[in-house]
Amino acid sequence: MIGLTVTRSKILTRNSVLLNVLKRHRKRNREPKVTNSQRALEYFDIAYAPVYGTRWPSVRLALLSKPKYVAVLNNFASYNETVERFQTLGAWDIGKKYSAIRERMRMRQEQNQTVSHDQGEAPDEATATGKFVRPSLVELDDDELAARARLEPKGRYPEEYRQRAVAQSPDTDEFEVDVTSRVIEPSEAGSSLLMDYVPATRLKGLENWMEEADVFTHASQGDQEIGVTVVKQEEPIDFPKMLKIFAFEKGNISDFPQPRSDPQLRVLDHYAMDGASLLPVLALDVNPGDRVLDMCAAPGGKSLLVLQTLLPGLLVSNDVSEGRVKRIRSILKQYVPRGMSSIENMTVVTQKNGCLFREAEEYDKVLVDVPCLTDRHSLMEDDNSIFETSRTKERLKLPELQSQLLVSALQAVRPGGTVVYSTCTLSPLQNDGVVHLALSKIWQETTIECSIVDMSQAVQPLSFLYRFGSNLGLRYGQVVLPSLLTNFGPMYFAKIKRIR
Ligand code: SAM
Repeated sequence: MIGLTVTRSKILTRNSVLLNVLKRHRKRNREPKVTNSQRALEYFDIAYAPVYGTRWPSVRLALLSKPKYVAVLNNFASYNETVERFQTLGAWDIGKKYSAIRERMRMRQEQNQTVSHDQGEAPDEATATGKFVRPSLVELDDDELAARARLEPKGRYPEEYRQRAVAQSPDTDEFEVDVTSRVIEPSEAGSSLLMDYVPATRLKGLENWMEEADVFTHASQGDQEIGVTVVKQEEPIDFPKMLKIFAFEKGNISDFPQPRSDPQLRVLDHYAMDGASLLPVLALDVNPGDRVLDMCAAPGGKSLLVLQTLLPGLLVSNDVSEGRVKRIRSILKQYVPRGMSSIENMTVVTQKNGCLFREAEEYDKVLVDVPCLTDRHSLMEDDNSIFETSRTKERLKLPELQSQLLVSALQAVRPGGTVVYSTCTLSPLQNDGVVHLALSKIWQETTIECSIVDMSQAVQPLSFLYRFGSNLGLRYGQVVLPSLLTNFGPMYFAKIKRIR
């Protein structure tokens, strides 16, 4: 009898345990799991909507849509047939298009000078040269077109997103918001740094968020206080003659075919990449014989671009990760024919921590394309996401790592040389914020002197291809905003010249 009672009570206990497990399982299944990409979208909606304003809905839509690529022809393959194929598809040779646009700009400038020298009446369209050169509409980006129509660039996107952004503003009662840490007013920061907004730090239910306010206490000085001068680059950015890049015009969402293998040389004929990746490399302004360091190079897209200019005397492609260094080697193998000793001897692949890159003043040009929130990847992929909860610490430490890498890059470049800092995020903190942080460290802790090169004017002739973010209050760099018309980016890049 006793034995029976014990067995019965054992069964009852086991059943109740099973019941609890079942309940928990059902509950878990009822509550949809928050994916990494959803977490990223939530973050971007709150952090970017106030910064990018009416432009955010269209940028958001583009980020969630199919990205656009350009095709970089491989100079080490025979590519004539590829050029013909791309032309038949209607793709543009960007280099050619760019020089035609520069020529038009030059002629327009000359005409303006003639008109301003003429004290009398401005000549009409039928004067000596006969033709006035008008800017073609393809040379104007969306924001310029809107300005011509005397309109604010308007979001072409549903009202619900605007409302959502408003709902998430600090005035709302829905969240418990620590207003002082969410928004740093220009008056408090002493500048319009990071476009005046800092993403929320202590929103209820979002405890993972960056404690960005701490970083801002360092980043709040003005340019003079960190010894930075700004020089404007008046001349349009240079497009190396040997770079052969094809792209489809704005609004054309055609794809390039898969790369083909050159049967003799056993290398691929072209490399497809986000068109915005071209800009940091153009900003480097590689000259013949330059010693170039690509500090965070894997998988190797930008290194390949540098190589395709056929300009550097030395290219060091570095990455901290062993697995990713293998990817650089594999890309080089796919695009540089075996036994081409002149190229093999000038390309070096290294695996070092860029923060500890102790090669002072070794390079003429340094590209530091840092790990970041990788906005597009974070929105499109759940795997290998920086928004994975287990990677929260790593994500929070990104600005610190980025600024260390930039400081190290400024130490590795020779006086007179150039460093380009780039990211593929729209995060103001990881862009202008990190540049400011690194420059103030350089000012306080070293004898190095730097100046920022303002590229805003220099990149304008490339508006036929890109949507550059204007009037965003950026102090140091330029940003390419994704748009459905031309879905490249995001890409931020800042050019820094080392003076001493
Ligand atoms: N520039 C590359 C391209 O165009 O193909 C993309 C670079 S990716 C945005 C950033 C890279 O930085 C990653 O490959 C990552 O392994 C590397 N990285 C992260 N921390 C680093 C460090 N401390 N030193 C050097 N590389 C680092």
